[in-house]
Amino acid sequence: MSWFVRKDKGIQTPTEMKREAPDGLWYLCPNCKKVMNTREHKLNAYTCVHCNYHEKIGSDAYFSILFDENEFTELDANMQSADPLKFVDTKAYPDRLKATMAKTGLKDAVRTAYGPMNGLTVTMAVMDFNFIGGSMGSVVGEKIARAIDHAIEHKTPFLMVSKSGGARMMEAGFSLMQMAKTSAKLALLEKAKLPYVSLLTDPTTGGVTASYAMLGDFNIAEPEALIGFAGPRVIRETIGKDLPKGFQSAEFVLDHGFLDFIVDRKDLKDKLVSLFKMLL
Ligand SMILES: [Zn+2]
Repeated sequence: MSWFVRKDKGIQTPTEMKREAPDGLWYLCPNCKKVMNTREHKLNAYTCVHCNYHEKIGSDAYFSILFDENEFTELDANMQSADPLKFVDTKAYPDRLKATMAKTGLKDAVRTAYGPMNGLTVTMAVMDFNFIGGSMGSVVGEKIARAIDHAIEHKTPFLMVSKSGGARMMEAGFSLMQMAKTSAKLALLEKAKLPYVSLLTDPTTGGVTASYAMLGDFNIAEPEALIGFAGPRVIRETIGKDLPKGFQSAEFVLDHGFLDFIVDRKDLKDKLVSLFKMLL
């Protein structure tokens, strides 16, 4: 039965000959269109192993990347939005909230938590773009404000990971008030001499850019993240001019002095911890 005995050690089938990989095992990079193992992609902090494209990720993934052994305590996990304006667009606002909660498993567009990062306890707020475009409503503002209170009370550094289309139009003025509220809380954090680092991820725009996202002791960003206030179309129509190449990319914003540095997500945790230790 010599035909039955494997002469060479290991499996020799070249990758391109392999078939029938079950669904969900492979990740297709939307930037370079190359394929990699989802596990490999996850271990690489959800960045492409071929072109370093930074996949858009949510609070779950950031918590797992940043907290030691994914160990953390969530704050105000069940806070939900009211409907002060009885707002209706294509859907009534409470129905939109309910549908979004069912779809995403989230309660609103930010999650706040504290836990160890390389042994240093840090309080952080991480936004979720899946929840109505990461829009900032009263729950987002209130949770961030309370997370800052927690940081002050327990003397921890504060990290904000922004990812947002801006203010939540369904809450109109209530949403805009969150800009002032979070900014005032950050002033108290500064008074307590505690460090604040703001990480801007793809995309960070509107009222979020115009408030807490740009108020860090250090404002840093992920590579190629879109960062701006109004969208490029609105600006083009307002000023009546074509916009420069790469306008509103993290690299462009860095060149023009609005950011301190750009950080690869694989180095994020170590860089943040050394920054916090320097500032504490
Ligand atoms: Zn890629």
